[in-house]
Order: sequence, then C-alpha cells, then structure tokens
Amino acid sequence: MRGRLFVLSGPSGSGKSTIISRILDTVKIDFSVSATTRPPRPGEIDGLHYKFVTEGEFDLMVQNHLLLEWAEYNDNRYGTPAAPIREANDHGRDVLLDIEIQGARQVKENRPSAVMIFIAPPSMDVLEARLRGRGDTSDRDIAHRLSIAASQLEVASELFDFVVVNDDLDAAVAEVTSLITEAI
Ligand code: 5GP
Repeated sequence: MRGRLFVLSGPSGSGKSTIISRILDTVKIDFSVSATTRPPRPGEIDGLHYKFVTEGEFDLMVQNHLLLEWAEYNDNRYGTPAAPIREANDHGRDVLLDIEIQGARQVKENRPSAVMIFIAPPSMDVLEARLRGRGDTSDRDIAHRLSIAASQLEVASELFDFVVVNDDLDAAVAEVTSLITEAI
C-alpha cells in the first residue's frame, strides 16, 4: 500500500517542533528534511534538521522542479524535496512534513489525500510569551511572526482537516499521535 503524507503546520511558537520531535520518537514515520536558505541556528545539523542551501542552489531546485512545494517565510525560502517523499510513499512508508501554510496549501493541491493538521496556540498572548521566552528572536522578528500567525489562524480551519490546540503539550502530542496512527 502507498504511504501517506501528513502535513503539520502552525505558527512559530505553537509548539509544533516539540510535538513533531516527540512524535518522531514514537511513531514509525519518515520526516521530510526541507531545503532552506536560512542560516543554521546553533545546534542545527545540515541534512538532519534542514538541508542548508545557498540562494543559487535553491533557485536550481525550483527551476528543475525538484520541490513538492516551496514558500518564502520571514525573508528566507523553504522547500520540500519531492524525491524522498515519492520514494518513501512508493515503498509504503508514511512521511511527515513540518511546513508553513503557503506550502501546506500547495501540498493539498498536489496531493489532495494528504492529512492536514494545524497546531494552534491557545491564544495570541501565549504565543507572544513563548516567542519572547525563546530569547533568540528579535523584537522585529517577533512582531513579524505574530502578524503571520494571526493571518494563519484565520485560514486554518478551511485548509486543515484537524486543528489541535496546544494548551497542554502531552495532550496535544497524544492527539496528533492518534490522528496519525488512525490514518495509517
Ligand atoms: P524555522 O525557520 O523556524 O525553522 O521555520 C520557519 C517556518 O518554515 C516554520 O513554520 C516551518 O514549518 C516552515 N518550513 C520548514 N520547512 C519548510 C518547507 O519545506 N516548506 C515550507 N513551505 N515551509 C517550511
């Protein structure tokens, strides 16, 4: 049987990355490693968290149609390499994508059978507090991420099959885990 595609989106600070890393510890599913032009953050490993590429390398991937989707976010470009997903799904392996909303929309258009999950923060105030708590993000960046989050929340319910509100991390992990394991 062909593997399935799961898309997880949610504003930065929604707890999406933590939920994903917890899921990858327990659920047998491939994680799609995105290409990005953003520089690595401390501790990020090339090829594991992202494939870090130059603007020129990203241009070539777009021109050669190597990406399932791509989008610009916060002045950087991010894209999902198509080949590893095709290879995994053809061999019956399921794949999890951690992408922002413009890319999620493209995936839904290209692969309507993808399971679309949106992780929502409990409130904008909580989201702002989480972003500030990280300490590695500038005020300008926080303001920008908050405005992106507000517009994302508006469209989430129409694009996504499931919206999981992350007000309790363990509960959110359990909910996303069961959404995935029930679908596969
Ligand atoms: P960060 O720079 O914080 O790692 O990620 C910023 C945003 O880019 C997050 O919302 C993340 O989900 C999204 N993102 C990561 N990889 C991709 C990708 O391949 N395509 C798209 N469209 N978004 C991505």
